[in-house]
Amino acid sequence: MTLIKKKTWGRTVYQCSCCGRTYDEAPLTFGSDRPDYYHSVPPDERPQRISLAESLCVVDEQHFFHCGRLTIPIIDHHQNLIFNVWTSISEDNFRKRNQLWNNPERVNEGPYFGWMQTTVPTYGNTINIKAVATENEVGLIPSIQVIEEEHPLAIDQQNGIIFEKALQIAGSILANEHPREDGSK
Ligand SMILES: [Zn+2]
Repeated sequence: MTLIKKKTWGRTVYQCSCCGRTYDEAPLTFGSDRPDYYHSVPPDERPQRISLAESLCVVDEQHFFHCGRLTIPIIDHHQNLIFNVWTSISEDNFRKRNQLWNNPERVNEGPYFGWMQTTVPTYGNTINIKAVATENEVGLIPSIQVIEEEHPLAIDQQNGIIFEKALQIAGSILANEHPREDGSK
């Protein structure tokens, strides 16, 4: 599956190869709204055991997670491929981040080590690979850099990718979300 760049009435659109839906801009931002570990807790126990905020999550008051932005540069396009992902974070660093939440000086802290807690589609296994989170200015989530050696995600983050590859990744993610004609997903 991919997104096909084509011209319609003189304007560029992107067409999903699974269903023909078209987009004026290539959808290049994806993500998860909770860490993978969340799903290991049975649904009926989640209200007691999990605290979940927009970009923070704590399980059993001993497993700490935060959400950041993983950017894969696209070399030949004006936008990048972006995944909002979760990583673990130590309790000490979690508390530090919260204390400095609204402090502009927080950009001088970190980076904070963690283990990836989000599957990034088309990159094989990305759960529990090494990553670091770098604090951004107040109001923005941290930047996530994968540091797992030789991992394809780390390599693409370092080197960047071409737009055609980004369209393939986006197309395969969208194909999973789009309903098929037979009603299955
Ligand atoms: Zn589609």
